[in-house]
Amino acid sequence: MEKTKVFYATARSKVWNYDYSLPAKLEELLLKVDLSKYIAPKDKVAIKTHFGSHGAFRIVRPVFIRKIVNAVKAAGGKPFVTDTTRIESLDYLEVAAENGLTHLTCGAPVLIADGIKGMDATPVKVEGAKHIQEISVANGILQADAMIVVSHFKGHLQAGFGGAIKNIGMGGVSPKTLEGKNNRGRLHSVDDKLPAWDKTKCTWCGRCGAICPTEAITIIGRDIYEINDEACWRCGRCARICKDKALDMPITSERLNTHIIEASKAVMSTFRPKKVIFINFMLEMQPECDCMPMADVPVVNDQGIAVSDDPVAVDQACIDIVSKARPLPDSLASDMGLTEAGDTFGSVNKKETRLSLEIGEKMGLGSRSYELVPVKKKTATSEPEEWE
Ligand code: SF4
Ligand code: SF4
Repeated sequence: MEKTKVFYATARSKVWNYDYSLPAKLEELLLKVDLSKYIAPKDKVAIKTHFGSHGAFRIVRPVFIRKIVNAVKAAGGKPFVTDTTRIESLDYLEVAAENGLTHLTCGAPVLIADGIKGMDATPVKVEGAKHIQEISVANGILQADAMIVVSHFKGHLQAGFGGAIKNIGMGGVSPKTLEGKNNRGRLHSVDDKLPAWDKTKCTWCGRCGAICPTEAITIIGRDIYEINDEACWRCGRCARICKDKALDMPITSERLNTHIIEASKAVMSTFRPKKVIFINFMLEMQPECDCMPMADVPVVNDQGIAVSDDPVAVDQACIDIVSKARPLPDSLASDMGLTEAGDTFGSVNKKETRLSLEIGEKMGLGSRSYELVPVKKKTATSEPEEWE
């Protein structure tokens, strides 16, 4: 069987010429992929990225988003830049602007895909699901004719790494259903359970309450600690930020990754075949997710950009590329004693990065078998030099 192609451009740039810059390489990658194979004239094209958070600024930069917008327009499509609600929708649009993503910078409208309350979504059945039989997909994504999934490749405390799969599975669904029930949060927990709080470990520092996007946590002095069942989205952010391990989202890695794959399948099922492309940016690869209130320094050096129409293949290729990079000094990786190339994201987050890829392949989301196609020259120029 023919292997899935993953087009790749390195981040290194050794020639003092625009054609050797990473934005130029992205233009070349988009030419190689040939967007016209995926986008028909007048297609409404969702450019699905992550807007970051107040304090987490290492998202995919507007300069790259704009190149993608321009390429979609050149293919005849109508692009819009979008993400689903992570905090209150209108506040999240402010975060997008704070992190540089606006109509003016991107060259296309910047929209929230699941409406002003994070519940503008449609239930979608998941074929062959073990756990998430149905999940509501954000209407801004569901109604799009095509999608370009633009992911900042990085670590992730729960999943080990975040890339294309996580961007669609978690990022393509709304926090609430149209009826106001929990939706995305069901992916983080088993049977929709609240985070479990252990009073004996709690230092009453208040960090969990401060990060909660719905103000669901009430802490009064050292007497009262409550999580409001109705307000809680089950996003797991409180448990991730608790350094004292007093909060726990009760789920295994296997179950979490299965949930994410099932949700990813739901999102993908809303598109006709060959209407979705995945672009992973292996830049500023911090150890944690872009929805934390800060971004630590990268744990490995910039590696470049990978593009494919298979979410499993592109994530597998990026894991393989990153695994060949030495961990950076003065980073969380070196704090943990990592000096040799290897599964740095898995090691810093103490998670199995291969799990989501294996489950993704087993459940038919994509293939781990790929052919890496290095893109070396910018075809628009007659210069014979290679990029590095
Ligand atoms: S972050 Fe952890 S230790 Fe701090 S108040 Fe919340 S549960 Fe307690
Ligand atoms: S899981 Fe934690 S941070 Fe997320 S909404 Fe519930 S209480 Fe808030």
